[in-house]
Amino acid sequence: MGNGSARPSGAPGARSVLLAVPSGFCAGVSRAVETVERALARHGAPVYVRRQIVHNRQVVERLRRAGAVFVAEVDEVPAGAVLVLSAHGVAPGVREATADRGLRVIDATCPLVTKVHREARRYAELGYDILLIGDPDHDEVIGTAGVAPGRTHIVDGFEAARVLDVPDPGRLVWLAQTTLTVDETERVAAELRKRFPGLVDPPSDDICYAAQNRQAGAKHLAGASDLVLVVGSANSHNSCRLVEVARACGTPAHLVDDPAAIEDGWLHDAVAVVGVTAGASAPAESIGAVITELAARGYRDVRTVEVAREGQHFSLPREPAETRP
Ligand code: SF4
Repeated sequence: MGNGSARPSGAPGARSVLLAVPSGFCAGVSRAVETVERALARHGAPVYVRRQIVHNRQVVERLRRAGAVFVAEVDEVPAGAVLVLSAHGVAPGVREATADRGLRVIDATCPLVTKVHREARRYAELGYDILLIGDPDHDEVIGTAGVAPGRTHIVDGFEAARVLDVPDPGRLVWLAQTTLTVDETERVAAELRKRFPGLVDPPSDDICYAAQNRQAGAKHLAGASDLVLVVGSANSHNSCRLVEVARACGTPAHLVDDPAAIEDGWLHDAVAVVGVTAGASAPAESIGAVITELAARGYRDVRTVEVAREGQHFSLPREPAETRP
C-alpha cells in the first residue's frame, strides 16, 4: 500500500473494491462518441472517422460494428463522404485536405484541445516559439504542433528539456498536451524555466480537468489500496499516466482493457483492497465488467471515493452544411 490516505475500514480479512469517482468518460469523449453515433443515425453508414475517435478498443469496435469506417488519412475517404475528425484534434493541413476532397466534415475535436490550438496560434502570431510538452507520436501533439509547425518545438520529457536548443530564447512560451500528469509536467516546465528565464507560462492550465481529476483519484486509491487497476486501452495516453501516478505512490498498478487482462498473480492473499479507476476514454461497460470479474474473485464489497465533481458538458459539433442528396 502506498503513502497517503488510510485504507477504508472493513471486516478483517474482507476483500473489497474501492472505486474512484470520477472514472471513465470525460465530457470531450462523450461528445466525440455521440457525434459518431448521431452521424450514423442521420447520414447512414458508412460514416468515416479519421484515426480512432477516442483511444479505446471497445468503443472503436462498437462503432465499427454500427457502420463507422476508421481511416488513417483523409485520402482514404471517398470524395463527398461524411468524415468525423477525432477528439484529439488535427493540424490545419488536414482540414485543407478535407476541403480539397469535398468531404462533409464533422469536427469532434475536444474544445479543450481547440483551446490549446488557439493559444499556439496566438503566440505564433506574436512571434513566439512554442515549447510543446508532450508525446511527439500522439495524435493530439501532432495536431497541435501542426498549428505553427515552424515555431513549435516538442519537448518529450525532462531529458528533452535539458538539451533543447532554440533560435531565440527571448520569446518563448510553453504549452502542454492535455492529458499529461500534473507533477511531471511541472518538473519539465521548471527545467525549461531554469534554462530560459524569460519563458512565458500558458495563459491557462493546458492539462484538462478530466486528466487532473482522474490523477487525483489514482493518487487517493494508491494510498488506500493494495493494488490499483486502471481500466483503459494501451494507446490511451491519459490511462497510462494513471498507472504511473499510482506506481509513483509506491502501489502496484496495472492497465486492464477488459477483465481477461487481470492476472491471477496480482490478486494474492495480501491484496485486500483493490482500487479501480478508469481513463477518460474507458466506457462504463468496461468498468462494470472489471468490477464484476473482481466480485467473482471474492472482491464483492464495492465502495466509492469521490475526489471531484464533474458537471462539464460540451455541446455537439455543427453538422456539415450540405446533406446527402
Ligand atoms: Fe477533452 Fe480532456 Fe477528455 Fe481529452 S481528456 S477529450 S482534453 S476533456
